[in-house]
Amino acid sequence: MRASELFFPTLREAPTGTELISHQLLVRGGFIRQLAAGVFIYLPLGIGVLRKVENVVREEMNRAGAQEVHLSVLQPAELWIASGRWETFRPPLFKLRDQRGRSFCLGPTHEEAFAQMVRDGVTSYRDLPMTIYQIQVKFRDEERPRGGLLRGREFLMKDAYSFDASSEGLDASYERMYEAHTRLFERCGVPCRVVEAAAGAMGGYETREFMLEAPGGEDTLLLCDACEYAANAECAKTLPPDGADVTSPAAVAPTRTRRERVDTPDAKTVQEVCSLLEVAPQQLVKTLLYRGPDESFVAAMVRGDRELNEVKLESAAGLSPLEMASEAEIEQVTGGPLGFTGPVGLPDTVRLLADHEIAAMADFVTGANEADAHFVEVNVGPDFDVARFDDLRVAVAGDICPECREGHLEERRGIELGHVFKLGTKYAEDMGALFTDEDGVQRPIVMGCYGIGVSRIVAAVVEAHHDDDGIIWPMVIAPFQVVVLLLDDELTQEAIGLVEELQRRGVEVLLDERSERPGVKFKDADLIGIPLKAIIGRRTKADGVVEIQTRATGAKEMVPLAEAAERVCNIIAAESA
Ligand SMILES: [Zn+2]
Repeated sequence: MRASELFFPTLREAPTGTELISHQLLVRGGFIRQLAAGVFIYLPLGIGVLRKVENVVREEMNRAGAQEVHLSVLQPAELWIASGRWETFRPPLFKLRDQRGRSFCLGPTHEEAFAQMVRDGVTSYRDLPMTIYQIQVKFRDEERPRGGLLRGREFLMKDAYSFDASSEGLDASYERMYEAHTRLFERCGVPCRVVEAAAGAMGGYETREFMLEAPGGEDTLLLCDACEYAANAECAKTLPPDGADVTSPAAVAPTRTRRERVDTPDAKTVQEVCSLLEVAPQQLVKTLLYRGPDESFVAAMVRGDRELNEVKLESAAGLSPLEMASEAEIEQVTGGPLGFTGPVGLPDTVRLLADHEIAAMADFVTGANEADAHFVEVNVGPDFDVARFDDLRVAVAGDICPECREGHLEERRGIELGHVFKLGTKYAEDMGALFTDEDGVQRPIVMGCYGIGVSRIVAAVVEAHHDDDGIIWPMVIAPFQVVVLLLDDELTQEAIGLVEELQRRGVEVLLDERSERPGVKFKDADLIGIPLKAIIGRRTKADGVVEIQTRATGAKEMVPLAEAAERVCNIIAAESA
C-alpha cells in the first residue's frame, strides 16, 4: 500500500470533547470517526486493526475447540419476552417494529438466541459438550456513552457459550475458555488482571473479569497488598468490624431505649445533620428505601460515611431489580419526607436490612420519619429490629482484605476487556433447552458464558501503548508491520525494490512516497503507530544502507540495503513470537 493512496485523514490536534487518550489518538491517527454519540465508523487503518484483533480472538477460540456461528442482530421480541428481559434489560433495549407491526430489538447480547438455537438442535447427552461463539455487533442504549470505543452504543463483541450435561462438565469448559482468554489478551498486548466481579444483568456465578490496569479506565479495582485478592469495587466484599456480632447486636447496645427526638430543620444530607448535631458521620446511620419487582419495600441501612452497594442489597434481599423509592412512595410508606427516613417505627411490611458494621454501633443518629427531625441515642434492639445483617456497603481503599484478613485493599483503575461466568441451568430452564441423559431423564443444559469486547480491545491497547508522539501498536495487531519512508525521490526504485521484497516475504508494508517533508512523514508514522520504520534517504545514497527504527524502543540500526528485508523479517518474527 502506498501512503499517497491510503485514506488516513490525520489531525494535528485532538478533537474537542475527547477525554481519553485512546479516543484522541484513534481519531487523530485517522482510525475512527464519530457518527453520533457512542457510534463510530472505522476508516481503513481502524478496520485493519479491528480485523487483526478479531483474528487473534478467533484463533484462540478455535484452538480451545469452540465453533464459530453467526446469529442475527435483529431479534424477535418473543425471545426476550420468554426470558423475562424484554422490559427489564438495562440499559433499555433498542426496539423497533417491522412493517406488519411485529416487535424486534437490536441484540445487546445473545443468551436467548443461543439457548433457542441449542434447544432446537441438541436433544441427547451425546450432543454435549460443545462450545459455540460468534463475533458480532451489539447494541446498547447507554445513557451517557463516552470514552470513544471504550463505551459505545454499537460495538463488536465475541460472545461464547458452553453447553454441558453436568456441572463438572461446565467446570472443564469454563477452565478452557478462561485459559483461551488469558492467552489472547497477552497476544494482543494487553495482559489482564483477573478480578472477582458482580454477576450483572445475566445472572450467573464464578464471575471473573479480565481487567487492564489503566489510569483512564472507568472501573475501580480493589487489590490486596498482602495476598492475591482482587475484585471489582462494585462487588468487593467487606468484613464486619471486630467485635460486631451480627447475630445478637444488642450485646453492645443498651437494653432500654434512651432514644431522643431532636429538631433538625432543613438538614437532609449526612453532612448537614452531622454539622448541626456536632457528630461524626460514623455516628450516623443512613436509611434508604427501595421497591422490589413485587411492589414490596426494603429499607437498607449503612453508616453515614458509607455508600450502599445496590448489587449487594439485591442479593441480600433476594429481590432484583430493586428501584429506589420515589419521594411520594417514601412519604406514603414512612410518613416522613425524603431525607428523614429512619428505622424506628417503620411499618412491619418493610423489610429492614442493615450493613454488618451497624451491629457494632451503639447510640447512633437516624432519621425520625418526619420532616425536620432526627433521633439520637438510637440502638438496635430497644428501638427497632433488623431482619438481617449483611455485607451491604461499597468496599473502599484501606479496608481490611476480606480474603486474608491481614492486608489492606488498594485502589486502581481498570478497563474491563473480558468477562466469564457460569450460568448454570437458568437460561436453559427459562428457554426450555433440555437434553435426555443416559438414564433417559430430561434435564436442562448447563451453560457458561464468555464475553470479550473486541472493539474495546483496540482502545485498550492504545491506552496501554502510546507516547507523546502517538500510538505504539504491538506487532500482532498493527495496521502495517513496517513503513518504508522514502525521503529522496532519486531512490524511488530502491524503495520499491525493498517494498516488493518485503511483500514477497509476507510482510505488511506501507510505502510513504508522498511529496511531504521528512518531518511530516516521521510524525505520521509515529502517530499511527507502525512498529518499524525503514528509512531510504541520505545514508542509502551515500553508503547503501537503510536505517531501521523500532517505534517501541527507539532502537536504530544501519543495515545494507540488500539485507534490509531479511532484518525486518527477523525483527517481526521475534516480536510476534
Ligand atoms: Zn488479602
